[in-house]
Amino acid sequence: MVTLVVDGRSLEVQEGRTIIEAARENGIDIPHFCWHPKLTVAGNCRMCLVEVERSPKLVIACATQVSPGMIVHTGSPRVLTARKAVMEFLLINHPLDCPICDEAGECKLQDYAYAHSVGYSRFDEDKVHKPKRVELGPNVMLDTERCIMCSRCVRFCDEIAGKPQLTFTERGDHVELTTFPGEKLDNPYAMNVIDLCPVGALTSRDFRFHARVWEMSATETVCPGCARGCNMYVWVRNNEILRQTPRYNPAVNDYWMCDHGRLSTFRPVNAETRIKSPLIRKEGELVEVGWDEAIARVASEFRVYRKNEIGVVASAHATNEDLYLLEKFSHEVLGAKSIATVPHIVPGDEDALLIRADKAPNAQGLLATGVAEAYNRAALDLLVRRINEGQIRALYVVEENVAAIPELAAALPRLDFLVMHATTENETTRLADVIFASSMFAERNGTFTNFEGRVQRIRPAVATLDLDRSVDGFAMSRLDRFGTSFDRWGRGQKRDARPTWRVIAGIASVMGFKYKYQTAEEVFHELTTAVPAFRGMDYRKIGTAGAPVHKPAMSSVRS
Ligand code: SF4
Ligand code: SF4
Repeated sequence: MVTLVVDGRSLEVQEGRTIIEAARENGIDIPHFCWHPKLTVAGNCRMCLVEVERSPKLVIACATQVSPGMIVHTGSPRVLTARKAVMEFLLINHPLDCPICDEAGECKLQDYAYAHSVGYSRFDEDKVHKPKRVELGPNVMLDTERCIMCSRCVRFCDEIAGKPQLTFTERGDHVELTTFPGEKLDNPYAMNVIDLCPVGALTSRDFRFHARVWEMSATETVCPGCARGCNMYVWVRNNEILRQTPRYNPAVNDYWMCDHGRLSTFRPVNAETRIKSPLIRKEGELVEVGWDEAIARVASEFRVYRKNEIGVVASAHATNEDLYLLEKFSHEVLGAKSIATVPHIVPGDEDALLIRADKAPNAQGLLATGVAEAYNRAALDLLVRRINEGQIRALYVVEENVAAIPELAAALPRLDFLVMHATTENETTRLADVIFASSMFAERNGTFTNFEGRVQRIRPAVATLDLDRSVDGFAMSRLDRFGTSFDRWGRGQKRDARPTWRVIAGIASVMGFKYKYQTAEEVFHELTTAVPAFRGMDYRKIGTAGAPVHKPAMSSVRS
C-alpha cells in the first residue's frame, strides 16, 4: 500500500494506482474528459492536471502513479488556472449548440463549462466548421463539430468491443473522427460510445430529438434480452419508454450493454399488437372482458377436467415470483404432473463480453424455483405426445408463443380449452379460448435470476391499470421525483395488464384456495422461506445490484 496526501487528506491506496484512481476511490473527483476507468489511458484532454509538490510542472492525474509521501493539490490556484485554459481551448471551436443538443443536461463539457471556465469567449475569429450529421453506423450519428477528440469511442471499439472501427484523420484543429474506409460503426455494442462520449458528438439515431433528459424519469431495472441480465435505466416520458441505457454493475455488465438489449426489448411495451385487456373467445371471436369474468371462466373450466388432463407451460421470460406461484398452483390446485418449458437458446449467438445464447432472462429461475428440472425440450415433447394421445385436454400457457413450435401448432387444435398469459398478439393468441393480458418487464415488480445465479430486481417504469404500489417502484419514484400522476398516459397506451402471479392468485382463490398475495414482494417473501436457494433474501437486500442465490444454486428442493 502507498500513503499519499490529496487536498490535505491522507489516503492509503494500492501500489500502481494513478492519482485519479486514488482520488476517486476516496470520493475526490478530479475533472476529466478522456479518462475512463475501463479504458486505457490516453492523457489527451489535459483536464485532470493537478499539482504535485516538488514537481516542477503540473501533471495529469490519469497517467501519474501514486508514490509514497506524494502531496497532491487538485484545486490550487495553478491547477484552477490550467483548468480554465484547457476549457478555453476546448470551447474555441465548439459550436455551443446546447439548446438543440441531445446531451444537454448530462454533458460533461456543459457541466465543466459552468464549474471551471471563465464564462465568456475571447475568440473573435471564425470557428472551424466540420460535418454536422454523419451516419457512423445504423444506430449512431456523429456531429463532428462537437467532438473534443478525447478518443474514448475509438478506444472502446478497440479494447472492449474488439472491433476497431473508428479513427481520427487530419491534424490540429482539423482533426475529425471517422470510420475506417469501408467500415461502419456496426458492432453489437456500438451504442456504448454514445454513453461514453463526454459531449454531444455521438447521439442515438433512435432517440435523437425525442426528449430533453430532464423531462424523463429513469428507473433502475434489468434488461430481459438474454440470460446476462444487464443492469440498465429505463427512461420514460408520459408513460412511454424513449430509451434504455446501461447501469454500472461490476458483477454483471460493468458499464455496458448490447445494442439489441438497448433498442429492441422495450418496443413491445407500446406495440400496436399489445394485448391490452383480458379476452374471451365468444362465438369464435375474441371479446374484451373484465378480469373477474376471465378469471371466473378459467376457474370453472379447470374444475371440469380431471387433474391429469390439464397441461402447463412455463416461461423463462416470467419472473421468479410468477414461476414460484405457478409451480405451487400447478401442483396444489391443478394437480399437473409436470410443467413444460420452452428453451430460448440460439446456438452461436453469444460472445465473451455480454451476449448470451439463451435469449430469455430467467432460465435459472425456472430451475431454482423447481418449475423445471432441466432447461430443454424433454417435457415439451412429452406434452405434445400427451395432447396427441388425448390425455391432456386443457392447456395453461404462461407467456410462451407455443403455436410457433411446429409440433405444438399441430397438436393445439386437439385441445378442448387453451388459456394463456400473453403480452402481444401471436400465433397462440389466435387459438386461445381465454387470454390474460400480461404486464411486461417494464411494468411490474419482480426478480430474474441470471445465468450466473444472480437474483436481480425489475421495477415498473411505466404504468398499467394494475399497479403494485407497495414497494420502491414506479409509484413512489414518479410521484416523488417528478410530480406526475398516473392518469397522464400521454402517448403511452392505457393497458389493463397484470403480472402472472396476481392472475394465478385470482384463479386459485376462486377455486377455493387461499392465495392472498397483494404484492410481488409478498410472493417473493414466501418463495424465500420455501426454496432454499433464495433463503434469507428480500427485495431490500437484493437492492439495485442483485444478490447471488445460495449454492448449490439450482436446488429445486423445497423445504
Ligand atoms: S466523438 Fe465523443 S467520445 Fe469520440 S472522440 Fe469525440 S468527444 Fe470523444
Ligand atoms: S447482453 Fe443480454 S442482457 Fe445485456 S443488454 Fe444485451 S440482450 Fe440485454
